[in-house]
Amino acid sequence: MTNTPNVAYFYDPDVGQGHPMKPYRIALTHGLVLHYGLYKKMNVYRPYRASSHDMCRFHSEDYIDFLMRVTPGNHTQFTKQLSLFNVGDDCPVFDGLYDFCSMYTGASLESAVKLNNNHCDIAVNWSGGLHHAKKTEASGFCYVNDIVIAILELLKYHPRVLYLDIDIHHGDGVQEAFYLTDRVMTASFHKYGNYFFPGTGDMYEIGAESGRFYSINVPLREGIDDQNYMYVFKPVVQSIMDYFRPTCLVLQCGADSLGSDRLGCFNLSIKGHGECVRLVKNYGLPMLVLGGGGYTKRNVARCWTYETSVLLDEEISNEIPYNEYLEYFAPDFTLFPKISTKQDNLNTKQYLDSIRQTVNDNLKNLAHAPSVQMQDVPPDLLSLDNTNEGDPDVTNTEEDMDKRVEPANEYFDGDKDNDNDKENDGFLDV
Ligand SMILES: [Zn+2]
Repeated sequence: MTNTPNVAYFYDPDVGQGHPMKPYRIALTHGLVLHYGLYKKMNVYRPYRASSHDMCRFHSEDYIDFLMRVTPGNHTQFTKQLSLFNVGDDCPVFDGLYDFCSMYTGASLESAVKLNNNHCDIAVNWSGGLHHAKKTEASGFCYVNDIVIAILELLKYHPRVLYLDIDIHHGDGVQEAFYLTDRVMTASFHKYGNYFFPGTGDMYEIGAESGRFYSINVPLREGIDDQNYMYVFKPVVQSIMDYFRPTCLVLQCGADSLGSDRLGCFNLSIKGHGECVRLVKNYGLPMLVLGGGGYTKRNVARCWTYETSVLLDEEISNEIPYNEYLEYFAPDFTLFPKISTKQDNLNTKQYLDSIRQTVNDNLKNLAHAPSVQMQDVPPDLLSLDNTNEGDPDVTNTEEDMDKRVEPANEYFDGDKDNDNDKENDGFLDV
């Protein structure tokens, strides 16, 4: 990779309206990416939409067929399936559910194809990273596991893929999918204990059969700060690089590990979260960067905008540029506000040292990184030549993007514009 990476960034203005993950966060992030001018430094794509066939690379046909057919109007006809597939409470049915899945999954899949074909060094899909979805089950707001589907695509070209997850929740769906293989190492850093969702991710979940020692879990206590987090993150990632020697990596950047998250209980700052991204990027491997959780949306937007700048090696100002949603960033209007909480840090040095030691001991069991015979590479799941609707393979030129940027006040309703107006979505056409 050259010093200035070639970054592909995926954004679909229609992504997920009405979903409880508040995909509006993605639009808010995109607004900042535009107004900081970051779009000029990368190739911006409107992504391919994944087909049910694409989704069935991982998920069962019954489950995907159900997601295609169920709507808020007809869901009472699906009592059995709602229960079977865990759709309803945490994972509600909403209008456009299947399209939403198709958009964020298509973006991750197209990212993988572009990475495989060296069309970019880094691919970014902030709408992806839905790490809890299982083969036949929705979980924790996640329906289709775009990460697993993207990794399956990467495996056509890459002998060893590393998955890193810094969401506050355990990356259980991805771990489970690759629990038995030595070609994908999953490493998740998350809050563990006291029944914190999803309840898995103990240090002793290490993989099984050929995958033994290829699942890594870093269970953390609440209140962890930047310094403590890096104290574990840095050596663990270094050991993984030394022992596993991945040929590409996928980074899930769930922003619910930030301080003050509505559902989280960690104490990371935006810079601290971004340092993890910088550290991983500096290994210079082909990289797919995804979103994930994050429930205080102004901070999610700050975090992922900052991380976009980190990936581009661009410095951006602490002062949020004027944009149609400036009010969200009151009262400080800064990119790096103090968002730490009074949450006590329950991670002692002794505890963190024990995690470092255990992980390192496990990794030593990987005497040699496995070598994979890569004969008979299956065809790309997604043939870019056949996806000409809006031709996602054609980069939006800078000129195109300039044309698409609306005047800053176009969709801003002044004082009345607040979180509750989120359906006022002219903005999403930006
Ligand atoms: Zn999460």
